[in-house]
Amino acid sequence: MAEAATPAPSTPAGAPSPAPEIKIKTRKPRQRACDEKDAKGKVCAGHLKRYYDYPKEVEKLVGPKAEIYRCEHCKTLYRPDPNELPRSYVLRY
Ligand SMILES: [Zn+2]
Repeated sequence: MAEAATPAPSTPAGAPSPAPEIKIKTRKPRQRACDEKDAKGKVCAGHLKRYYDYPKEVEKLVGPKAEIYRCEHCKTLYRPDPNELPRSYVLRY
């Protein structure tokens, strides 16, 4: 493990802060394990856990108090399978 001990230069305003890319997938019916593949094509198979306390960046994407899951291995976010919702959300006009 080579640790670069370079002090992070504090960049002043000007450069846009690189927002971390958040990946959200949708679970397949009865999917319980992550099916993301790594660079070598190996399936992650991490356990998808309910993600309650998600940060603001995620909230912007999924909304507050949304049902969302996260792979405990690669941290990919998963929306619940739309066909397997415990409650059906009916659009009202
Ligand atoms: Zn994963």
